[in-house]
Amino acid sequence: MDTIRLHDKTFKPYITAEEIDLAVKRIAAEIARDHAGAKPLFIAILNGSFMFASDLFKALRMPAEICFIKLASYKGTKSTGHVITSIGLDDDVFGRDVIIIEDIVDTGKTLSQFLPQLEHQQPKSLKICSLLHKKETTVYPLEISYLGFTIPDRFVVGYGLDYDGLGRNIGEIYQLAD
Ligand code: 5GP
Repeated sequence: MDTIRLHDKTFKPYITAEEIDLAVKRIAAEIARDHAGAKPLFIAILNGSFMFASDLFKALRMPAEICFIKLASYKGTKSTGHVITSIGLDDDVFGRDVIIIEDIVDTGKTLSQFLPQLEHQQPKSLKICSLLHKKETTVYPLEISYLGFTIPDRFVVGYGLDYDGLGRNIGEIYQLAD
């Protein structure tokens, strides 16, 4: 794989499609093991998680439901610090086993602002599943029950993740080059 150029920046190959596929299958197996006999409700956070959510949901061999909400705290490569909810949650989470699907947890602010809203609706259980985790930069304490990869504090694109709108349709994950 070669480097790619999106807008004004260059990105280098970082996580291959095969590595992503293995992580997705492993996470699906972990979720199925932990929720045997249950019918979890997945809440995927748009836009970035759409590809991960789709692959994970397909890999899950058990009855489950999925819905999508939109939260955003990023513009360009820097967090704006604001969490915006532009598509609300219609599904009833009361008494449900809820699993949030995120593309990446960075500071943790997005989820830490959203979780109390969900907890207020009294789900039976509430877990976080994220493909990527920038552990070093997470300042809001969050327990990620299902995780694909821990990555360093360097901007990544691909597999649903964008740089100002571009890069979401790449099947691998690329990292900002020096
Ligand atoms: P947090 O609230 O945890 O700081 O940020 C979470 C959101 O920031 C993610 O859902 C994602 O939209 C965005 N984000 C954080 N790091 C990256 C990154 O390296 N690349 C991209 N494309 N988005 C990121």
